[in-house]
Amino acid sequence: MERTRPAEETNEYYSEKMKDLQYKRKSARRRQIARRKRRFYVLLSLVMVTFLGIGYAVSHAVGNIETAEVTSSGKSSGQVQATPYVEPSSDYERVINRSYPIEPGYIAGTGELRTIANSGGKQMETNAAINLEKMIAGLNDAGMSIIVQSTYRTDADQEYLYNRQIGRQGGDELKAATISAVPLTSEHQAGLAVDLSVDGNLDESFAETAQGQWLLEHCVEYGYIHRYTEDKMEITGIIWEPWHFRYVGSPEVAKAITDSGKCMEEYYGKFLDPEDIEPYLPYLK
Ligand SMILES: [Zn+2]
Repeated sequence: MERTRPAEETNEYYSEKMKDLQYKRKSARRRQIARRKRRFYVLLSLVMVTFLGIGYAVSHAVGNIETAEVTSSGKSSGQVQATPYVEPSSDYERVINRSYPIEPGYIAGTGELRTIANSGGKQMETNAAINLEKMIAGLNDAGMSIIVQSTYRTDADQEYLYNRQIGRQGGDELKAATISAVPLTSEHQAGLAVDLSVDGNLDESFAETAQGQWLLEHCVEYGYIHRYTEDKMEITGIIWEPWHFRYVGSPEVAKAITDSGKCMEEYYGKFLDPEDIEPYLPYLK
């Protein structure tokens, strides 16, 4: 008699088979997914490495260009950090202020004084004097006259003026120093500065006079600059002085400084030390 399996057994057998088959299929599917994931991550890594590489190459190339630009505009080759300040080409460009005083007896440029024509025997450094004469001639040609009020001062002269100013300010040395330079910090002592006037007075109204306006416009043509402007008082430490003109050696230098919109401290990077400007700020508003 042929042995027959019970239906349940047969069903169970096939059911087991099916489970096994399903299990194998699932395993295969899982392995396939795992393979795809691996491929995906490998590909992702490759893409990231490529992008990082490109990014690095680009930034490196830009860095090289920037370095090259800095080097080409710098003072000397091999200099990585370009200074934003101009290097003086002569001592006519020397910045003189409370933090950068001159030596006793110092006269700039030629080191010699020259008497200015029609000034009552007043003197300035040779080239400053010659160019002041030309500037006054230009003003005269434009139909105006001017008084040469103050030019070269000896160290003793500056000492006297500074002490007199302290007296006028009731003993307030800080205020006095914003009006009359502390001895050895005046451009007049170096023979490079002139104060010009229309009536013998030195005040802000000079800026409104025809002479004052002509000088502000034309002084650069004679190598002079308007040194103490209204907008730079908190940097120069000196009040607005539209009557004070400073010789800087040539029309080119004077024009370059003026066109920069900077005062000499900013242009040459010779700023006042904090102790030489901060206590004075209340007097420079
Ligand atoms: Zn002056």
